[in-house]
Amino acid sequence: MDVHNVIVIGSGCAGLTAAIYAARANLKPLVLDGHEPGGQLTLTTMVENFPGFPDGILGPELIENMRKQAQRFGAEFRSGAVASVELGKRPFRIEAGKEIYETKTLIVASGASARMLGIESERKLLGHGVSTCATCDGFFFRGKEIAVVGGGDTAMEEAMFLTRFASRVHLIHRRNDFRASKIMLDRAHANDKIHFVTPVVIDEVLDVSKGGVEGVRLLDVETGKTSDLPVEGVFVAIGHEPNTKVFRGKLDMDANGYLRTHDGSRTNVEGVFAAGDVQDSHYRQAVTAAGSGCMAAIDAEKFLEAEAHAH
Ligand code: NAP
Repeated sequence: MDVHNVIVIGSGCAGLTAAIYAARANLKPLVLDGHEPGGQLTLTTMVENFPGFPDGILGPELIENMRKQAQRFGAEFRSGAVASVELGKRPFRIEAGKEIYETKTLIVASGASARMLGIESERKLLGHGVSTCATCDGFFFRGKEIAVVGGGDTAMEEAMFLTRFASRVHLIHRRNDFRASKIMLDRAHANDKIHFVTPVVIDEVLDVSKGGVEGVRLLDVETGKTSDLPVEGVFVAIGHEPNTKVFRGKLDMDANGYLRTHDGSRTNVEGVFAAGDVQDSHYRQAVTAAGSGCMAAIDAEKFLEAEAHAH
């Protein structure tokens, strides 16, 4: 079996930037695509804050460009989610799809995935009116009333995006205060298609017995009263979970499951580096993910170089 110099897990902004740098350092990186190829940028529309694009660029296009750029310098790609990793000794072993791979260094850039409310009706109606991606599914709700759940920037962004399609967007949040940045919140408030509903939680998405979304049962957390709000779609926009399940007990992580890094992109296992949202619960921007992907590739390169000199 070939032992790779660098395997990158994840093909979002962080993974692809790591692949570009590792490929240009002649390390012939192998990128394992994971279960959400392209990562979260593929689920967005216009990206206006990635430097270098004064008119903005579509998220999927930005990702496609990065992928081509990595390929141009010799990065290889394989699909298949990672099922298990063995990091106890080197070369590290990675099981993905039906293959086993071996590598001298590993860059974990597996990102974070959408968080769900965790109620049964939400799970049962996912894909039948419940969605975690406004960009993907907004089109289906032309002229309809819908709900967006959450109080962060994602919820504001999705609510505003969805006003392009929906006749009305009910922004449902469990508190009267918002985590969203002021500019995003002000924009959402200024949009007369957005109707704020607080402080409420969704008790149930109606109606599982009908096989589609007809409304939400809301629980007012101050009064304890419930009420039904008729909507035809529910967009869950309450944040993300890091994709670190396969690394549990193998790599240090914080209480929320985000990988801990030190001295740049190093994890607690020598030769394993982490980049992007999988190790960043704070900034979570495309440009910071790209920056940390670059750091991880440089750290992996230096690590391999030091090892070559030592032998
Ligand atoms: P977030 O800031 O963590 O906000 C998550 C929201 O969901 C919070 O309001 C939270 O309520 C709510 N929530 C969490 N779990 C819930 C549950 N079980 N039931 C009901 N509500 C729940 O996540 P985010 O909005 O995805 O943003 C993540 C990061 O990306 C932020 O740093 C943000 O600034 C950034 N971002 C930026 C942009 C932009 O600038 N264009 C766009 C999107 C995201 P509580 O507040 O009560 O905890």
